[in-house]
Amino acid sequence: MAARLFGTNGVRGVVNEDLTSELALQMGKAIGQVMKGTVAVATDTRSSGDMLRTAISSGLMSVGVNVLFLGMVPTPALQYYVKTHDNVNGGIMITASHNPPQFNGIKCISADGTEASREEETLIEEIYATDVQTCEWDEAGTMDHVNEAGEAYIDAVLSHVDTDLIKKAGITACLDCANGAAYETAPLLLKKLQIQTVTINCNAQGEFPGRPSEPTEENLSDLISLTKNTRASIGIAHDGDADRCVFITDGGKFVSGDKSLALLAKLELSKKKGKVVTPISSSSMVEDVVNEAGGILIYTAVGSPIVARKMKENGAIFGGEENGGLIFPEQQYCRDGAMTVAKMLEAIALNGPLSKQVGKLPVYYTQKRKIECPDNMKLAVINYLKKTVTDGIMDSTDGLKIIFENGWVLARPSGTEPIFRIYSESKDETVSIERANLFEEKVAKFLDPDAELNFPEVKPTEKTKQKPKAL
Ligand code: MG
Repeated sequence: MAARLFGTNGVRGVVNEDLTSELALQMGKAIGQVMKGTVAVATDTRSSGDMLRTAISSGLMSVGVNVLFLGMVPTPALQYYVKTHDNVNGGIMITASHNPPQFNGIKCISADGTEASREEETLIEEIYATDVQTCEWDEAGTMDHVNEAGEAYIDAVLSHVDTDLIKKAGITACLDCANGAAYETAPLLLKKLQIQTVTINCNAQGEFPGRPSEPTEENLSDLISLTKNTRASIGIAHDGDADRCVFITDGGKFVSGDKSLALLAKLELSKKKGKVVTPISSSSMVEDVVNEAGGILIYTAVGSPIVARKMKENGAIFGGEENGGLIFPEQQYCRDGAMTVAKMLEAIALNGPLSKQVGKLPVYYTQKRKIECPDNMKLAVINYLKKTVTDGIMDSTDGLKIIFENGWVLARPSGTEPIFRIYSESKDETVSIERANLFEEKVAKFLDPDAELNFPEVKPTEKTKQKPKAL
């Protein structure tokens, strides 16, 4: 079996250490053998983008594939281009999403615009490991530049919302593109919606001087102050390749990804009843909101391609992850940052200020912990937890989720790092913290060969009739 190159987010690594031009060239040859015909290529704004996309394009052309270069556009803009052009057999996005600037990556897109399946990736890996046959001199592929992919993507996004309603709502915005791939499309979207906007980090700059490209609360302090100080209706922040988006309320409060997931589930369900899909790591708040709005929530394992596939299978109307990666099937089956922005603006136009909408959501407390764990111990940890936890309902969709009467715990090994993650959620903050502590300790003890495994069993609060401690 060929060595694995693709992780959960394509091939990713530090440029000229893990990810070299030689690797990109060979990758281009291998991908070309699988996709054939014409392939679209795009990059985010990283400094190494030109080096890698020219090497990968050279590989593609050397096996007879024609390349269409779309320039620096968001990942979902490339996906939309591939999906809507029958003559294009696939796509390659040169991006490392939210990773630091020294990283880059190669992400493969199937002919229908979705992320390549594990089977397609395995086939590419197998060909990569061989001495790939190149074509005759007169069969070498060509390269053409396409300039309209970004605008066509934004126009498609706008066709899915009530633009007149948004234009009349008097919304003002602050926008932070992290110097990344949305630098042109995100301001264009807001301009077309006639929204008065103040921008920061909206120039393409591959060293990401403005802020780290992961849109967390800590990384968005400038946008938070700007939104508050300018009294804007909303702050909008994308990650490096703009498949994700998070928001700041009027008043300057960070809105976590599962809150926007819940608010947009409510918006979609107000138009059409149906199914909503999210991974089991999402807050129960999403389930509460979906149930109240008359929808059905379906849980999956963690990972946006898994969510997208489940949505397709079930004809779901909406889905997404708690990190701000939301999927709108009327546009495409992948995370779509610009769709997320357009829909949230529509939600404000219809349902009022973002701060008020967030204020009405049910409140849950979530603890997230990380424990170092060697890859070869991950399964043993899960089995140990299964044996020793006697209360609650067990769910093995991904790792081990234990659902109690007043919350849940998810113990899940990371797919990419030697780490075990513990999530604990409850409406009672003390309970959420105590359970997180208990499970963290349980896993740590199991991983310590000198520790004795006489750990007490976990009991849910209701069953033992303990009163929750004061907050
Ligand atoms: Mg991303």
